[in-house]
Amino acid sequence: ELVYLNGWIGSFEDAYISVNDRGYNFGDGVYEVVMAYDGVMFALDDHLKRLAASAAAVEMDLPWDLQQLKSIAEDVLVKSSIKRAMIYIQVTRGTAPRNHFFEPDIRPNLLVTVRYAPETDPAMYREGVKVITHPDFRWQMCHVKTISLQANIMAKNRARRAGVAEVVFVLPDGTVTECGSSNIFIYQDGVLKTHPANNKILAGVTRQYVLQVAGSLGLDIKEEPFNVSELFKANEVFYTNTVIEVMPVVNVDGHVIGNGKPGPVTTQLHQGFITLRESLK
Ligand code: PLP
Repeated sequence: ELVYLNGWIGSFEDAYISVNDRGYNFGDGVYEVVMAYDGVMFALDDHLKRLAASAAAVEMDLPWDLQQLKSIAEDVLVKSSIKRAMIYIQVTRGTAPRNHFFEPDIRPNLLVTVRYAPETDPAMYREGVKVITHPDFRWQMCHVKTISLQANIMAKNRARRAGVAEVVFVLPDGTVTECGSSNIFIYQDGVLKTHPANNKILAGVTRQYVLQVAGSLGLDIKEEPFNVSELFKANEVFYTNTVIEVMPVVNVDGHVIGNGKPGPVTTQLHQGFITLRESLK
């Protein structure tokens, strides 16, 4: 496992950053998580474009262009020799004595870590998982992949204490937005629904590729908000993110989804996603 920090490369044990890093003090930063299969990163361009968009949304000027970020990430991955890797890319606003105000010339800190990708228990894909709903108590800029994840962390750990895999965020009007660290989809009578990519969700890279697969399978795709009762009644439910890809959900707040087993459309979409990402290598 390997760390890149502002041009330095070494081990986790030897990597240090100032306690005045604004990521440490304020959570003032943005990030990406990318997967590599057989030593090749999947959808790196999509992730770096989103990183640039997140930085722009929080008024952070990146001193690197996408090509430079790409070669840094690829270099650390190659040096790590890890084939199935999880690459974490984090940019904080920079280092300065703690003060909400930041100077216009502050230089961001760039961290890239390469680790063995965590294995997801195959039984979870085979049998599906349970989730619970939780008030979406986050902010108005959920389209930004910020490292400030206090709300997500609290909600996800409530889910864990409830003995379930993920938390589904619900707005006060009953609208389902997304999950603690993934996007959620429902399938009902030929229609695949997921929340539109606006400021209320993070537009997942996996979400986009799954929608592409769904289109090629001829599903009727509706990027529309849906509410909790639609979620409870859906034929199939699943969530997506970079590391997990597509996870079937078989129980929401105790309501059994479909026949309590992963549905055929979910399975087809996951298979199609794997085929697509293999073809893009
Ligand atoms: N939504 C949230 C809140 C997330 O944290 C994530 C990823 O961690 C996603 C959605 C899924 O995004 P992606 O598919 O790009 O990993």
